[in-house]
Amino acid sequence: MQFIDIHTHTSSIQKDVFSIENKYPNSTDFSTPFSIGIHPWYISENTLQNDIKIIEEQLSSENCYALGECGLDRITDVDFSLQIKVFKQQIQLSEKYNKPLIIHCVRAFQEIIQLKKEMNPKQPWIVHGFNKNHQIALDLIQHQICISFGESLLKNERLQETFSKLPLDFLFLETDTSEEHIENIYNIASELRKTEKQNIINTVKQNFSRIFKR
Ligand SMILES: [Zn+2]
Repeated sequence: MQFIDIHTHTSSIQKDVFSIENKYPNSTDFSTPFSIGIHPWYISENTLQNDIKIIEEQLSSENCYALGECGLDRITDVDFSLQIKVFKQQIQLSEKYNKPLIIHCVRAFQEIIQLKKEMNPKQPWIVHGFNKNHQIALDLIQHQICISFGESLLKNERLQETFSKLPLDFLFLETDTSEEHIENIYNIASELRKTEKQNIINTVKQNFSRIFKR
């Protein structure tokens, strides 16, 4: 295993890649490493109880690496207080089953940080698909929240600038819904940090063992 892809929606198995595939409560194949959660876009009060039940059934599986993605999204139509309620339920499940939390966050970083303070979880939290500014990144890291970077790192210059200066012990890389190969994300990461790709590979591996205890 060379490249760890912390969050992907693609199920293809690639040589030299270890990936955590995002699953939903209605997924059926749990035979490879996965995370499972209720995405804030897809919260439905009608199926909520059943969705939670399915997630709970999968969380103790050996292939389950994390709970998520779950989180908060200010742009979606789903009622924000319902999002908070469902997010809190999933935080509790992540604690109960000792699985790290993979977070989707759109314009709700302060709420995420507030909930972290309020609920004081023991499980690590990872904000995935980060593409915001340096100050938000530092705020997250200051609250011990990991950050995962994906495709935006290839083209968003402001993000590249942010990335080039961050502490790396909270770093993960991902492809999410992108068709880019994860190696391209490692390539740009090594370019931006002016370090060899192997150093980025090693850093992410160390972070992975520390956070996932595997
Ligand atoms: Zn995703």
